[in-house]
Amino acid sequence: MAAKPTPKAAETSTVTDRTTKRTINGAERRYQNLLHSSPMGIHLFRLDGDGRLIFTGSNPAADTLMHTDNSRLLGLPMEEAFSGLKNTEVPERIREICAGGAAWRTDHLEYRSLDIAGAFEMHCFQVEPGLCACMFQDRSEHKLMESRLRHLTQQDPLTGIANRPMCLERIGIALQRAKRRADYRHAIIYIDLDRFKNINDTQGHHAGDAVLVETAKRLRASVRELDTVARIGSDEFVVLMEEFDSYKRPIQAVKRIRQALAAPFLLENEEITVTASIGLALGQDLASSAEEALRNANLAMHHAKALGRNRIKSFTQSLLRQTLNVVRLENDMDRAIARGEFFLEFQPILQLGKNRQLFGFEALARWRHPDRGLIMPGEFIPIAEDSGKVVELGYWALREASRILTKWRERYPHMQDAMMSVNLSPQQVPKTDFLPRMREILNETRLPARNLKLEVTETALMQSGTSVLSKLHELRDMGVSFSVDDFGTGYSSLSYLTRLPLDHLKIDLSFVRMLETGKDNLEIVRAIIQLATSLRMDVVAEGVENANQHGILTDLGCEYFQGYLFSRPLSEERAEAFVQTFTSEAITS
Ligand code: C2E
Ligand code: CA
Ligand code: CA
Repeated sequence: MAAKPTPKAAETSTVTDRTTKRTINGAERRYQNLLHSSPMGIHLFRLDGDGRLIFTGSNPAADTLMHTDNSRLLGLPMEEAFSGLKNTEVPERIREICAGGAAWRTDHLEYRSLDIAGAFEMHCFQVEPGLCACMFQDRSEHKLMESRLRHLTQQDPLTGIANRPMCLERIGIALQRAKRRADYRHAIIYIDLDRFKNINDTQGHHAGDAVLVETAKRLRASVRELDTVARIGSDEFVVLMEEFDSYKRPIQAVKRIRQALAAPFLLENEEITVTASIGLALGQDLASSAEEALRNANLAMHHAKALGRNRIKSFTQSLLRQTLNVVRLENDMDRAIARGEFFLEFQPILQLGKNRQLFGFEALARWRHPDRGLIMPGEFIPIAEDSGKVVELGYWALREASRILTKWRERYPHMQDAMMSVNLSPQQVPKTDFLPRMREILNETRLPARNLKLEVTETALMQSGTSVLSKLHELRDMGVSFSVDDFGTGYSSLSYLTRLPLDHLKIDLSFVRMLETGKDNLEIVRAIIQLATSLRMDVVAEGVENANQHGILTDLGCEYFQGYLFSRPLSEERAEAFVQTFTSEAITS
């Protein structure tokens, strides 16, 4: 294959000589035409006897692409003719090719000289020994397109700010920088609009979109140009802050963000206010990937939300540990009931009027975890509630407690009227199979309904609708009784309480604890007891730990007691022993 010079780019000596000798045959002419009309730029380089690469030819496309008349450079050494190639691998490659080396190509060659700057795709191959052709094409335009495309795929179409992939990419780069540079600081701020769904539902999607666009704008205005502002979920935004001098900066930024969001949002014909829950993860909290860093900030945001929205929380390792612990327990819970890891303890409830009587027991769940040992309900009940597993747990507790009281009733005549109090989760009642399952358990365990008391918290009762109330009434008609648990901690509404089939009210132990610390507290408890009496309910005081509390409560007219002063929650065996001592006590007293 012989390369022939184009009219504009006359080849150097040898080729020109040949041209003048008119040795060009038809094939060569066609080849020349091809070079001449090729849309790709072509440069020819010859290796001379001193080992220099001499520029010996080019085609019109090369002129166009390089924005210059290349013919004026003919005969110059490569590095002089094309200074932009000096610090590239090109000279070395071409030298190899001239010496018989394999062809070489690159998709992307950055070229920068005094005249032009751009990116080229380049193919170099040997034309004949000592002569190398380089065909090239401008890729700058292509690159521009690529970056435009990239921008589009990395942008949130609604707000115009970065999207999730872009956000993750930037965080990834930040993590790399943080590894290399000791002075580099970054922080991730995770912003979630509170109750955004409400806006969408009540004002329509237009309004929702307007709020998101405005939020993006305000966030953008709250941070520096170099910081990344992204929308990564429907109403979730992330700000990545970089290159600041002190970790005070992200905290100040969060304050600015909260102020910016606090101003009312003007919608078409309405003003609305928006609050946000904010999680902050500082770059000093090591994360091994962008996803992990984002998850940390998200965790902090969720913590803020759980604490009651419109707050800010920082990520900490202990928060991570807590969360992992919750996730693990939630997973373990699935098998725990089946494997018999849960068991009940029973805390006596005493009636201390003229006679000292055992009124019954409250059944309290415990979890013997294979790795963690004993876990108390304060830890696992909230997790069971969040995951809905509290429903199954509740039926398990009811079945166990009923089975055991049935056994005691069969063994001890004085236990005929004893009550078993079982905690009922508010999630159990609305389910359609609630009543059938309750009946089924009572049948199966042969416990008379009148020996069962269900403890329901005040808040749960308040939130329940009419169908819940009618179900509770139906149970009551069967003979089941109810107590309001933790009374005083929720939002009591008198009129509401009267509509419920309640016969016991349990004063929350926080009130009992406060009894000794002031006259006001005593008055509150007095009022609760009066209220209960007027509603014909009996009062159980919970968490009674000392004789003084016992004395005060007795004076106030309280008759039922539960607390460490009388007994801690007991294992089944010890509770049964307690039942037995009670017989003898009852007989001797
Ligand atoms: P709760 O229903 O208010 O139960 C009373 C809690 O007070 C029990 O804690 C009991 O051990 C504790 N207590 C009793 N007397 C005293 C005292 O004198 N001093 C102090 N400091 N504490 C006392 P426990 O067993 O840790 O149960 C915590 C909560 O877990 C229960 O509060 C109840 O809401 C929930 N729970 C327990 N078992 C179940 C269950 O089977 N189902 C459901 N849904 N919830 C349960
Ligand atoms: Ca209870
Ligand atoms: Ca309680």
